[in-house]
Amino acid sequence: MLFPRFHITAQHLNRQLFIVNANFYSILQHQMVNSADRIFLELPDRASITYGQANRLSAQLANRLTKVGLERGDRVTAQIEKSPEAVILYLACLRAGIIFHPLNTAYTTSELEHFLQDAKPLLVVCDPAKYEETVQLANRCQVKHVHTLDENGDGSLWSDVSSCSDQFEVAHQNPGDTALLIYTSGTTGKPKGAMITHHNLSSNAASLVKIWNWSSADVLLHVLPLFHVHGLCVGLHCPMLLTSRILFQPRFSVTETISLIARASVMMAVPTIYTRLLSHPQLTRELCSSFRLFISGSAPLLPRTFEKFEQRTGHRILERYGMSEAQMIASNPLLGERIAGTVGYALPDVKLRVCNEDGNPLNNGQIGKLEIKGPNLFKGYWQNPDATRAAVRDDGYFVTGDLATVSDDNRLAIVGRQSDLIISAGFNVYPKEVEILLNQIPGIVDSAVFGVSHSDLGEAVIAAIILQGSGVTEEEVLTVLKKKLSAFKIPKKFMYLEELPRNAMGKVEKNRLRKEYESTFKDE
Ligand code: AMP
Repeated sequence: MLFPRFHITAQHLNRQLFIVNANFYSILQHQMVNSADRIFLELPDRASITYGQANRLSAQLANRLTKVGLERGDRVTAQIEKSPEAVILYLACLRAGIIFHPLNTAYTTSELEHFLQDAKPLLVVCDPAKYEETVQLANRCQVKHVHTLDENGDGSLWSDVSSCSDQFEVAHQNPGDTALLIYTSGTTGKPKGAMITHHNLSSNAASLVKIWNWSSADVLLHVLPLFHVHGLCVGLHCPMLLTSRILFQPRFSVTETISLIARASVMMAVPTIYTRLLSHPQLTRELCSSFRLFISGSAPLLPRTFEKFEQRTGHRILERYGMSEAQMIASNPLLGERIAGTVGYALPDVKLRVCNEDGNPLNNGQIGKLEIKGPNLFKGYWQNPDATRAAVRDDGYFVTGDLATVSDDNRLAIVGRQSDLIISAGFNVYPKEVEILLNQIPGIVDSAVFGVSHSDLGEAVIAAIILQGSGVTEEEVLTVLKKKLSAFKIPKKFMYLEELPRNAMGKVEKNRLRKEYESTFKDE
């Protein structure tokens, strides 16, 4: 074998950890100490950080957090820009048994209130520019401490880190102790905090390095934010378990990414990133000739993007599926065929079933509610046993809220969110079925199909469409759709937009579309 690989299985890890210490940091630390001189984070404008340095810095910051008064089980809310120091803050929290609660930097201070009232952190770390307003909010929410950290690593949190000891014993944690609190995007109701345990982190990371055949020679192009499981867990844990190098991009830029592709071997991205890369003429087969694996997730990858990317680079993007409550759930195979529009097979140890409303499993090929179970599954919603009970069945299966179908050879395809299902005149319309057809029409580059209330039909189907080139007429679109779809699935109205509203992870925000167009059929 050319390069060392990570051979420990999830069961092996967890059997050992039960006896020793289930703190996920203790596994990471073992690797960091053994490969102390290897580069962990390579940065565009700053000196690189080795694994040994990161291990010492996390000890210093853990000591700093202890000095502030934080203890095991306390929460740290971090609404900060992506930086190496933000990574160290995450590692320091793991190490000290403190629950790390990252937040999207796009949230306004008023949106922050819900998270602080709910998570009740002892410390909030914010950008220096938001210090005053955060302190005011923290006072209202009885949060004791506010510190700052900016994208260059400057701020009150970091100011005396160098004077703290670089020794800190990894806190003892049980497998079921919460390591991370990730709030769901909250498509209905207020966001809920998913409690992700140390066991969830170790088992999922061990599965991923195995199925993606991660090696120490891999170099990850890290372009994702750190407030989501994609960039934080998948994007850090896989390379860290093998002490691979990370080319750390503080934010995604097409030109920077293109300039780094030749030096990297793996990239994890959301579909929007792949479509943006495709707009750059220098994305070529030659540029990607030594690349190993392009991974996509967090939102559906359009088959057209998959095909164009393959034509341009020779690489078939590997699409995988996951969510805050379970990290990664399914993945297209590394070696077998990667099929556009599907998310592949369940991860080792993860069980899937597609059920009807009552929770009874459906046959392969039928569309229903996707339920999952496995060591990756969170332990529940933070201080919300009712929401946990509503989402987890008596036999331990979690109702994901996604509609899906499984083929005879066990491949999973996600059809969409249950909450996006349109019921028009009593018939189910799965938006994705209409979107796939629309996106195949020349002149249409992207679309989002959603329902709004209609006095006669209950809900009526609307399509938001992004045109390209000379576009296409509504008549032409209807001719294509009518040949393939039953009448109740055909959009009653087409809205032509410049772009679709998407969140930071590239998901189309159908809530916003529904709201924007809610009174479209008011008078009908
Ligand atoms: P979040 O909890 O914010 O990560 O959102 C999870 C949701 O993103 C899932 O429940 C899916 O609806 C969606 N999602 C993630 N990956 C994919 C994918 N590859 N294809 C389709 N939807 C996806």
